[in-house]
Amino acid sequence: MKYDVIIIGAGVAGLYCARFLPKNLKVLILCKAQPWECNTFYAQGGITIAKNKDDIPLHIKDTLDAGSNINNIDAIKILSQGSLEVLDDLISQNFLIDKENNEILFAKEGGHSISRIIHSNGDGTGRMLHTHLIKNLQHTLWKNAIVIDLLIEDSRAYGVCVKTQKGLVNIYANHIVIASGGVGGLFKYHTNAYTISSDLHGIILEHHLELKDMEMLQFHPTAYINSTHARKQLISEAVRGDGGIIVDNHNKRFLFNYDKRGELAPRDIVSRAIFDYCTKNNQQAFLDLHNFTQTQFELRFPNIYRQLTSYGIKIPQDKIPISPAFHYSMGGIATDLNTKVIGMENLYAIGECANNGVHGANRLASNSLLEGLVFGKIAAMNILDSTLNIGERNFPLNNEVLEKDGDERLKNVLRDIMWNKVGIARNQSGLDSALGGIEVMLLGEIGRLLRLRLLVAKKIITSALNRKESLGAHYRIDS
Ligand SMILES: Cc1cc2nc3c(=O)[nH]c(=O)nc-3n(C[C@H](O)[C@H](O)[C@H](O)COP(=O)(O)OP(=O)(O)OC[C@H]3O[C@@H](n4cnc5c(N)ncnc54)[C@H](O)[C@@H]3O)c2cc1C
Repeated sequence: MKYDVIIIGAGVAGLYCARFLPKNLKVLILCKAQPWECNTFYAQGGITIAKNKDDIPLHIKDTLDAGSNINNIDAIKILSQGSLEVLDDLISQNFLIDKENNEILFAKEGGHSISRIIHSNGDGTGRMLHTHLIKNLQHTLWKNAIVIDLLIEDSRAYGVCVKTQKGLVNIYANHIVIASGGVGGLFKYHTNAYTISSDLHGIILEHHLELKDMEMLQFHPTAYINSTHARKQLISEAVRGDGGIIVDNHNKRFLFNYDKRGELAPRDIVSRAIFDYCTKNNQQAFLDLHNFTQTQFELRFPNIYRQLTSYGIKIPQDKIPISPAFHYSMGGIATDLNTKVIGMENLYAIGECANNGVHGANRLASNSLLEGLVFGKIAAMNILDSTLNIGERNFPLNNEVLEKDGDERLKNVLRDIMWNKVGIARNQSGLDSALGGIEVMLLGEIGRLLRLRLLVAKKIITSALNRKESLGAHYRIDS
């Protein structure tokens, strides 16, 4: 089977890349489960759009501030300038953007100097965007197709090895785009879709390609914790932007003790403040919504409202127990600004799986859907510019056993280790012991999928060990 382009992942990055590949090209999109099981679908807050050309420098500054200035400024320029094109394109495609008196509504989120976040159906932006992109998709999509290897020789990618419901198959293409999302499945508490488990990151390591900034992991400050699923219900930053406050058991606000922006400080500061305050003072943190009426909240955040009330919470009167949870990976597969994986001729990485330097040490809220859109299009444009034809090839199937008895238990051990020792606050001894634990597991009789996760976990830990100082989302209590 030979295609022009294979895209691994059907989130915003993969689907928006596909949107710019014409119908006459043979394009195949692969995703692990149902197409909506991706982080894009669960995104709530919205999409950052520079208000106009004059706002671009300020958007760049806000992004750099959030990223502790280790971002690649050229990547941010592309992102911010690209946002204006994205908005025009979404409007031309009749994507529903929330408006008031026929004017687009722009919301404010933590770390942004002004209101510049567009949203759709209140807090349903991700679902609306994903549905819109799927509806307009003009290429073939295979669901329940798990990519378990990349077929790479020298600096060329020839195809992918995929496990489908009919079995294992190699599929070939002239261009391969990785759009496989982040690393949520490595952590005990996270906000990510269950399909997001860093398989492709692990495959990249196996092929001696680079993962960059892997210690830079973002923890979202406000996940509802009293549910039983590992995927914790996220309560969008926009709720704090619109008046939600954080209090302790005694209804005392404490975030201003940590940062003058209080609830509107960047999310790593808020996450650490909650962690630090609650640990030191033996308190539980709550989200207090008394600044909203029930109707206001339901109208502005219909999905969060529905979710929370399904847990029996009464809004606005109940205080909602919250905790930080793993949320977003700034680190990822190292690419250049044209989205090409470093060292490869025809392999691209876009969206959350990629690292082009745009986020630096921390991501500014709502910059990631935008990143998927802007860089998804850039990948498509580069593919269209290329005349590469890699010819016919035949690779053996990767027959390694995917899952073995005991893997499920070890996955949970891994998640515990990552949450407790490689989470919000890190130190040398915790990281050393985490590394030891991972190395022992890697020596065992384990299946391929677990091994890929362990390789990525090991890379995260060694990156965290190598960065001795606290920076952005990487917080060392011993620095
Ligand atoms: C709860 C939540 C709320 C968020 N809110 C916002 C927000 O308001 N604004 C914002 O900008 N960002 C937000 N984010 C972050 C943002 O949603 C993600 O960073 C972004 O959607 C990632 O898009 P993506 O296309 O890179 O990956 P995803 O949308 O995660 O898609 C990954 C795809 O890869 C596929 N895949 C993975 N592994 C394999 C494999 N081995 N084989 C085949 N397919 C595979 C998956 O099946 C999936 O289709 C939020 C994230 C979460 C979890």
